Amino acid sequence: MASSKDWHSDTKQVRAGLARTENRETSEALFLNSGYVYDSAEQAAAAFKGEVDNFIYSRYGNPTLQMAEERLATIEGAEACRVCSTGMAAIFASMACQLEAGDRVVASQALFGACHAILTKILPRWGIQTELIDGTDITAWQAALAKPAKLVFMESPSNPVLQLVDIAAVSALAHKAGAKVIVDNVFATPIHQSPLKLGADIVTYSTTKHLDGQGRLLGGAVLADKAFIEEVFQPFYRQTGASMSAFNAWVLVKSLKTLRLRIEAMSATAARIAEKLAEHKAIEAVLYPGHKTHPQHKLAKAQMSGFGSLIALKVKGGRAAAFTVLDSLNLIDISNNLGDAKSLACHPASTTHANLSDSERLALSISESHLRLSVGLEHYDDLWRDLCQALDKIVSD
Ligand SMILES: *Cc1c(COP(=O)(O)O)cnc(C)c1O
Repeated sequence: MASSKDWHSDTKQVRAGLARTENRETSEALFLNSGYVYDSAEQAAAAFKGEVDNFIYSRYGNPTLQMAEERLATIEGAEACRVCSTGMAAIFASMACQLEAGDRVVASQALFGACHAILTKILPRWGIQTELIDGTDITAWQAALAKPAKLVFMESPSNPVLQLVDIAAVSALAHKAGAKVIVDNVFATPIHQSPLKLGADIVTYSTTKHLDGQGRLLGGAVLADKAFIEEVFQPFYRQTGASMSAFNAWVLVKSLKTLRLRIEAMSATAARIAEKLAEHKAIEAVLYPGHKTHPQHKLAKAQMSGFGSLIALKVKGGRAAAFTVLDSLNLIDISNNLGDAKSLACHPASTTHANLSDSERLALSISESHLRLSVGLEHYDDLWRDLCQALDKIVSD
C-alpha cells in the first residue's frame, strides 16, 4: 500500500492518521480519557524514561489528538504537528518555546489583535525585543533583518485587510539573520498556501476557523519538522498545558475530511462576490487577493493556489454607512468569527481591531469604512442578493 504521504490530498483528508483499535471501528474513535494504565511498575518507569512508546497523560499525548495531528501534518506536508486548545495557544507556545530574554523578534504589523498584543505587550515584559514593520515592504524587512534575530512572525493574507507578505523572500532574509520563520496561515488554509514549501519553518493555525469550518470548536495547530516539534516544542507544550481537548480533536479530525470541498466552494463564491462588489456603486474598494485590483495580486498568484473566503470591502461613507450595511443584512450574520459555513460580516475598526490606536489602525490601512466578509457555503445567489440590498441602502440616488 502506498504511504499516506503519496496519497492525493482528498485521500489524506479522509484517512491519514487513522489508528483503529481492536474493535475495528470505521470512524475515528474518541478517547475521552485523561490517563493510561501500565502492566507493571517497571513499565510505568520505562514510559516516564521515554524507553517505551505509550501514552502517559492526555496533557501531552492522546490517541484522538494523535489522529488529528497526523492527518493535519499529512495534509500540510509537514513532518509533525501538535494541536492546541486555541489558535492563540498554538501561536504563543510556538514562540515562547524558543525565545529567551535578550532575543529579538521581527514581525509584520498586519496581525490578528491577540498576536499584536503578544508581540507589543507580553513578550517585551520578559526582555524580548520586538519590532513590527510594514510586511508588504521588502525593504523594511531587509532593514529589520540586517541585524540578527531569533524569530520572524507574519500573517499572510492578514486579518482584516488581506495584506500579503512575500513568504519566500522574507524567509530567505530571516534565515540569513539567524531567525526561524512562523507563518500564521489561517486565511489561506493548507488548501491554498504551503508556507513550509516557500521556506518558512513553522506554520500555525487557528483550527477554530476554516479547519473546523462549522463554528463549533476552539483549537489551534503548530506544524514543523520533527526535530523542532519533538525537541523544542514538545517539552514546552508538555509542561505548560496548551493541549487540545480530546473531544475537540475528534470533531476536528472529522471536519478535515471535507476541508478541500469546503474551501474550494467558499473560495469560488468569494471570488464571484469580490468581482461583483468591485462594480457596485456603494463600494470604494474591494480587497481580495484573487482580484486584479488587489495591490499584491501578482504575489498572490505566485504564492497561493487559491485566494480564500475572506473579502475586505471599503464602503463609501465611513462608519455610519458601514454600520447601515451590516444592520441591513438579512441572511449574512454580524459576527467577528470567520471561516464558518455561515457567511459572517463585521466592522473591524469597532470590534476585532478596536484595541489598536488610531495611528496603528491607520498604519494598517484599516478605516472606519472597512467591512470584513467571511464567505460561507450558502448559495452565491442568496448571498449576493443579501449584500446587494444592504449596499443599495447607502447609495444616494
Ligand atoms: C482567529 C485567529 C487567531 C486566533 O485563534 P483562536 O482560535 O481564536 O485563538 C489567530 N490568527 C488569526 C489570523 C485568526 O484569524
